[in-house]
Amino acid sequence: MKDFFVDLHVHIGRNGQGRPVKITASERLTFAAVIRECLVRKGLDMVGIVDCACTGVLQDMRVLIDQGELMELPEGGLRHRDRVTVVAGAEVEAVEESGGVSHHLCFFPYLRNLAEFSKVMSRYITNMELSSQRCGLPARELQAVTLSTGGILLPAHAFTPHKSAYGNACQRLGDLFGPGLQELPALELGLSADTALADHLAELEGLTYLSNSDAHSPERIGREYNVIRMHAANFRELALALHRTAGRGVVANYGLDPRLGRYHRSYCLACQAPVQVPPPALACPACGATDKDFVRGVLDRVLSIADRDAPHSPPHRPPYHYQVPLAFVPGLTRAGLDRLLQRFGSEMAVLHQARSEEMQALVGRPVTRSIMLAREGRLPLQTGGGGHYGRVANRPPTGEQLPLFPAEPAQELS
Ligand SMILES: [Zn+2]
Ligand SMILES: [Zn+2]
Repeated sequence: MKDFFVDLHVHIGRNGQGRPVKITASERLTFAAVIRECLVRKGLDMVGIVDCACTGVLQDMRVLIDQGELMELPEGGLRHRDRVTVVAGAEVEAVEESGGVSHHLCFFPYLRNLAEFSKVMSRYITNMELSSQRCGLPARELQAVTLSTGGILLPAHAFTPHKSAYGNACQRLGDLFGPGLQELPALELGLSADTALADHLAELEGLTYLSNSDAHSPERIGREYNVIRMHAANFRELALALHRTAGRGVVANYGLDPRLGRYHRSYCLACQAPVQVPPPALACPACGATDKDFVRGVLDRVLSIADRDAPHSPPHRPPYHYQVPLAFVPGLTRAGLDRLLQRFGSEMAVLHQARSEEMQALVGRPVTRSIMLAREGRLPLQTGGGGHYGRVANRPPTGEQLPLFPAEPAQELS
């Protein structure tokens, strides 16, 4: 057994023809660029690409296979140069009769499964060239289609306010999936939640938690990731790990401090301010706004539907490690980032292993101090909400600085 670094939620911005796939994703995010980023800068062993059922992307994958850049593994998954394994998947939007909308990740072992899924879904989705399209099916029917075409389905960013299972479609996954709940191997926590928060819900006890990046640009790949113990990086092993069978499993989650996520606390759009009262806040304490003018925070939502007063983790739950991605570190410039990556090899190595003295020589004392404080969980943070990321407190408003997740409209809610 070996431990693998895995991020299972990465989007594609443009297909090989230069046409948009995920409209809100960076145009630099092509299939080839994702692989390069995993390999060179992030140090990821396995990446789930969630726009593979889009017609142009399927085509790109076939070309890469023909060129020998991707190889379909007998156990499922696609290997690039014996270094990175791609798990091909789709993020699809389900709609309930009540109008509740939720996103789900569907993963498939082989291209033929994916093509079959894509074919079935084309009956329900108007534009198969684009990502995360609404399919008109409720979650349990989407799950049935996924299973019948040989895939696995898991709820994406399960608590975010506008497009997620708990945020918008249900109070209990059991209501959304019925008996299909037993077929869910895992659930994606999303950037604004962590294990402790999710463990307020008893029905999640049997599910594996995933911490994935939902990257819309190359820089964001791996801002959350999982360490998965398995025999090899392929689809079959991944499925075993998600079901925690035969010694396989997620052994650690690395995620943002949930306060840095964009939906951690409730936010009033009328007052343009996050709520300051203790959770759960389900209406604006200042102006009374609810519904349309009020974006329910993940913390507020979970505590309002929790069936436990305090989190209770089952014994199989791995540790959840907080990390502050380098893009959040005040004062770190693009040139500084490049120097760090060149010296230490990957963002993960900088965040978790690089020695303070060595970093100081490359990026100076204040930046190094922030990275070290972040590593110890002692960097002061300001909580995010309403679509605005949290931030490192006292971050200087001006000066040279890496763009903090650029070009991401507040309405892009995945
Ligand atoms: Zn997504
Ligand atoms: Zn989404």
